[in-house]
Amino acid sequence: MKNEKEEEDSADPKVSKSSLRSAGSGDAIAAGCSDGRQHHIEPNMFLFQHLTHDEHGARETGLPNLGLTCYRNSVYQVLAESPNFFGTLKGTIEYDMTEKEEWTFTLCEILWRILSKSTLRPDIDYWLCRLQTAFAAVDTSFVEYRQNDSLSFFTSLMCGITDVLQKRRKQYSVKLNDPSEIFRGQLHDKYTCCKCKQTEYHATSDFFSLPLPTVESQIPKIGDCLFQFLSAETLKDVFLCSFCNHGIVEKEIKIKKYPEILVLQFGMVSGRENFFQRAHKVPKFGEDFNGLSNNIHLTKIDKGEFSKYTLYGVIAHTGGLTEGHYYAYVKRLDSEEWELCDDSYVHRVDVKEVLCSEAYILFYHKVEKFFKA
Ligand SMILES: [Zn+2]
Repeated sequence: MKNEKEEEDSADPKVSKSSLRSAGSGDAIAAGCSDGRQHHIEPNMFLFQHLTHDEHGARETGLPNLGLTCYRNSVYQVLAESPNFFGTLKGTIEYDMTEKEEWTFTLCEILWRILSKSTLRPDIDYWLCRLQTAFAAVDTSFVEYRQNDSLSFFTSLMCGITDVLQKRRKQYSVKLNDPSEIFRGQLHDKYTCCKCKQTEYHATSDFFSLPLPTVESQIPKIGDCLFQFLSAETLKDVFLCSFCNHGIVEKEIKIKKYPEILVLQFGMVSGRENFFQRAHKVPKFGEDFNGLSNNIHLTKIDKGEFSKYTLYGVIAHTGGLTEGHYYAYVKRLDSEEWELCDDSYVHRVDVKEVLCSEAYILFYHKVEKFFKA
């Protein structure tokens, strides 16, 4: 008779654990092709076999590092706890998909394992490898064994999901909610003529994250950084006022649509190849973030809708130009407890540790809207 360890080692993860269940409910849902067609995407089997035959045992939580994959693991951990993301993604995978789109299903499998705390090896290795292989076909910047950046990966995943959803909506003529939509906000440029004071709006653009500039301060705060990002600059002879043809205008960036989840990124400069380093001191941030309402800022902005946000995820980065490490802090939806997720190491932490971490990307969830008349 086999002992438990041998059984786990010999189990074929594709057969034993490939059915996706809703977190907590245990109900099986249809995840494969409706026509019964087999999917052909296989993970890099060399990598997979190599990992499944090491001495690591089963773990309750955490995502193993498959070789320079900390930047991905941090993103998966935050995505799993992003309100409404997993549920919406799950709702989209019941549709037939082409080989190139199958990575969304694989992502869903990983998020379900994080949420149900069943990231057991070698099963989780299989799914992580499979997503790595499948997504590298979508975006070649994310091939195996290459260090990359968490924010670029997050953005590429969201753009990929948007593309897949657009195709599926067209193909099936159904209304499908796009999981990436919760991160999507909109900016537009406001121009004010320095002579006739007329205002015009131009260049609406979507964003999945806002890059916050550095502010000159002993203790920089994120409110100040965002204010700096949105504050006006004077342009001379770049843009002509369409009312009076005057050549000096003030340009401001305005948030046209506040996303459900506001992703803020602190300055990180790109170094040689795919290595990144922190550009500046981490600004001070809190658990609550009131859009632009903090302190003086509300008095300086237009009337309109603002949002109150609460922090639920942080991706931190340590290291310099030639090396670096990403890890995440995530507030669990079920327990409201903060956890440090450093690859396979997952540990409960106090919020104080989160607020003084080497934060690189902050994830804030909208909790209420308010208006300034
Ligand atoms: Zn004018």
